[in-house]
Amino acid sequence: MKPFSHLNLSRPLLENLGKLGYETMTPVQEWTIPLLLKGKDVLARAKTGSGKTAAFAIGFLETMDGERYRVQALVLCPTRELSEQVAGEIRRLAAYRPNIKVLNITGGVPLERQEHSLSHQAHIVVGTPGRILKLLKRGSLVLEELKTLVLDEADRMLDMGFIDSVREIIGYAPARRQTLCFSATFPDDIRLLAGEIMKDPKEITVDALHTRGVIEQRFFLTEAEERGRAVINLIRTYKPESTVVFCNTKDACRRVQEELEQYRMHSLALHGDLEQKERNEVLIRFSNGSSPILVATDVAARGLDISGLSAVINYNLPFETETYIHRIGRTGRAGQAGLAFSLVKPGEQFRLDRINEMTGSDYAADPLDCTVPEDFPGLRPDMVTLSINGGRKNKISAGDILGALTRTGELRGEDVGKIDRLDFITFVAVKRAASGKALKILSRDNIKGRSFKALLHD
Ligand code: AMP
Repeated sequence: MKPFSHLNLSRPLLENLGKLGYETMTPVQEWTIPLLLKGKDVLARAKTGSGKTAAFAIGFLETMDGERYRVQALVLCPTRELSEQVAGEIRRLAAYRPNIKVLNITGGVPLERQEHSLSHQAHIVVGTPGRILKLLKRGSLVLEELKTLVLDEADRMLDMGFIDSVREIIGYAPARRQTLCFSATFPDDIRLLAGEIMKDPKEITVDALHTRGVIEQRFFLTEAEERGRAVINLIRTYKPESTVVFCNTKDACRRVQEELEQYRMHSLALHGDLEQKERNEVLIRFSNGSSPILVATDVAARGLDISGLSAVINYNLPFETETYIHRIGRTGRAGQAGLAFSLVKPGEQFRLDRINEMTGSDYAADPLDCTVPEDFPGLRPDMVTLSINGGRKNKISAGDILGALTRTGELRGEDVGKIDRLDFITFVAVKRAASGKALKILSRDNIKGRSFKALLHD
């Protein structure tokens, strides 16, 4: 952990950080502040609690013109509570520049009072999209001199339906600006938005470094042709509930899946050859427990957000160390311990050296027994997925489906798992032992007066 003095920050800011009790940088601060000070656009995967507020605030506070009473930084937050918290943190950090004014602007407060405060000008505005947009439209908030725009908890903001407001707000900001996006997850819509509103953004993921210690990293020296069996043995030994096996190519994915199948281990594959529809299906089946193993390439796994992933296995070490950090960051979330295993081929030591260098570690590649016992029974999940050809747009609710399945008493509530509704299709996880009955019920009975076709995905 590096101290803040490692960065090129002004003395008064460093003293203020000392007063606040911030001595060493959190990983998100260590990785993003240098980029922010250079004026780069940054897309960072970081959660609340990671120190992200201080990261972006330090970035803009140091370069702000205190003499110009114009809004130079705007931070958009999904909720009033977060907005208030962020404004408070920025005020504490800005205490070393007493003339810098920070305003918190959210709904639930009379508009007139906010317009009055704005008329006295502020340097930094923090707020929620709805109210900010209203004030922009009324002309009481002006962004002509905005230098930095921050989207905080961007994924939540989009989940809450703020996407159009955010786009409209950006329409009021100058094209020449720094745009920062902090998000706990990177689903496709965040990437899409980032592509639209950011210039050559640097992508930072800190989960992995942040949770160091919570993720158990191990490296195993493995001959190329033994890697399939190595994967099988690691899963056999550690028994993770859910595992993603990362490969560098889709051919490797295919090979791994074939080998898993030979040993009767159920897996699903996610690679670039799949259409979006098929990708969705695979992700749903993996996350509802219908397969314990997902074999994936990096591109296909982008935006993948499965909480509580127990293990990540690198069948291939990635070419970039950044990718390694992305991959293993998917495990060990929310305080749960995660396993991150990597297979190192002879001659690949240099890749491990680079990982060690970048993460400040000194892992070595251990030997691994790759013989799978003859009597290994394989691995079959308890759940399977059924689908019916009706979804959200057909006004079918999860309750309707659960009701139909349990109404006759043939199935109990505990036989039914996660229900995922898309627009025109719904996936239902059911216990394998009950899947025959469930399929019969869904094909036979009406749901809300309509009959549907049901299919088994196994
Ligand atoms: P945030 O992720 O921005 O919500 O910050 C989480 C908490 O960590 C806040 O209460 C900050 O005051 C605190 N914090 C941020 N940076 C540091 C640091 N470098 N050292 C100690 N505490 C910090």
